[in-house]
Amino acid sequence: MSIEFRCKGCEKLLRTGDHTGGLPAKCPECGTLQTIPDLVSEQNIAPKGPPQRRGPKTATIYLGGHKGEDTAAIMSLLLGVTALMTSCCLPLAFPVSLIGLVMGIRALGSKNRVLAVLGTALSLLGLLSTLGLTIALLFGF
Ligand SMILES: [Zn+2]
Repeated sequence: MSIEFRCKGCEKLLRTGDHTGGLPAKCPECGTLQTIPDLVSEQNIAPKGPPQRRGPKTATIYLGGHKGEDTAAIMSLLLGVTALMTSCCLPLAFPVSLIGLVMGIRALGSKNRVLAVLGTALSLLGLLSTLGLTIALLFGF
C-alpha cells in the first residue's frame, strides 16, 4: 500500500511508498517541499473543492452627490456668519465671505436650498460690509 496525499502547493494528488511517511518530499509538479504524512488520512486525499479565489472585495463606497452640496450649503452659511462677525477684520472677512459666497452658489442646486440661499445672502452681506468698510477706510471716513 502506498501513501497518497495532496501537495500543499498545487493540490496535486501525490503517491509514495508506505515507508516514506514523515520524510520530506518535493512535489514533482510545483517543487513545494513538504513532509509526507505518516498515514493515509481522509483529510489528505479528500478534494478540497475548487480553490476559492478571494478577489478583492469591491466595497462600493457610495458618496451621494448631495452630501457634498449639503456640506457646502452649511459651510457657506457658517462662512457668511463668520464674515459678518469678522467684518471689522478685513483681511479675514474678505476671503471668508468670498469662499462662503462661492460655496453658497455652488450649493444652490442641492436639497438644502434654503441653507444655500441663506449662506449666499449672508456671505454677500459680509462681502458688501467688508467692501463698504474698505471703501470707508480708503476714503478716510
Ligand atoms: Zn505541488
